Amino acid sequence: MRANGGFKKLTERYLFKEASERAERFKAARPDVKLCRLGIGDATLPVPSFVAEAGAVAAYELTKKNGFRGYPPANGYPFLISAVVDYYAERGVEIFPDEVFISDGAKSDIAAAFDLLERGSVVALADPTYPAYADMAAIKGMRTTTFRADEENGFLPKPSGEAFDAVILCSPSNPTGAAYTAAQLEEWAAYASRIGAIIVFDAAYESFARAGAARSIYEARGAKSVAIEIGSLSKSFGFTGLRCGYTIVPRETGALRFLWDRRKAACFNGVSYVTQRMAEAALKNPEAAGANARVYQANAAFLAEELRSYGLRVWGGESAPYVWLKTNEDSAAAFERLLNRGVVTTPGSGFGASGDGFLRLSAFCPREELIAAAAEIRAAYAPT
Ligand code: PLP
Repeated sequence: MRANGGFKKLTERYLFKEASERAERFKAARPDVKLCRLGIGDATLPVPSFVAEAGAVAAYELTKKNGFRGYPPANGYPFLISAVVDYYAERGVEIFPDEVFISDGAKSDIAAAFDLLERGSVVALADPTYPAYADMAAIKGMRTTTFRADEENGFLPKPSGEAFDAVILCSPSNPTGAAYTAAQLEEWAAYASRIGAIIVFDAAYESFARAGAARSIYEARGAKSVAIEIGSLSKSFGFTGLRCGYTIVPRETGALRFLWDRRKAACFNGVSYVTQRMAEAALKNPEAAGANARVYQANAAFLAEELRSYGLRVWGGESAPYVWLKTNEDSAAAFERLLNRGVVTTPGSGFGASGDGFLRLSAFCPREELIAAAAEIRAAYAPT
């Protein structure tokens, strides 16, 4: 066999694993230090009981002769598809049931999006951005180009003449927390349309969007013909372990929707009935189901505010559970410096070369850890 050469492009070990292993080693060596875990990109608070109950009821249905179900429909059960349609309608975005494809989370469907493209296609990625995109692109035989997200553009790059077949936009962004407005997304949609490219819009953090930020790319005029949107219940509703998401492929994308449907039929056997019933319960009551996300969000706002008050340069903390801290030293050194003070972070360079000089601080940990971490960060970096 000839192995997929794309794997050779994955030169670095997967960032999050490496950072957490280094933190584990520190913990083993220094059991006296209580760690502040600001490196976590995972939900930490329990799912609400009404979501669990929906799952329990669904599980028992399967014990009945007339309730048993085998393979789920590859694109999702109609009840969940309809809950997704309503979830969008509540914020004034009209989508149709045949545009909704239920998934086991955003990551699988972002990888699936590359299957729409010919091998060797050019995929544009922000730098810094969620590092899995580049890994997936390499494995799927894509070429990549990057556009800089930096202080100058508020970590929200605009299209500026690059040629590509697809662009992945992540908004609100992991790691910077920056989020596009509908007007800014309209520029991307117009540009993609002009050059005949598609936009893969990663909306994994949509429910965190605040202060005029768009929750869906379909809030932007012209986006429906060029953009597919990837949604997830992971961060918004604590489904990181349960695994459920959805992808919207609008009718206006024409052949793409048929390719997506065909791919799903070929490569995917659906999400479990129990999980889909739990997802339905969450989407039908997003306020209650999203209460934990509001805790993470308030944590992030608190941390950003606190660090700003020390005179530090920070972004995010508003539309995402992340704060993006400028350290004025390379990310690896900054990671080590704070780890030695018991604060686990994620080095910005792991999200792309332009992330060097920054750390991503996540706000999924308890408030007391954030308070302790803020004091350590102040001692390490604040101007005196
Ligand atoms: N997209 C972004 C930007 C993420 O940060 C993550 C997880 O951290 C994912 C996608 C993966 O989400 P899911 O759990 O839905 O696969």
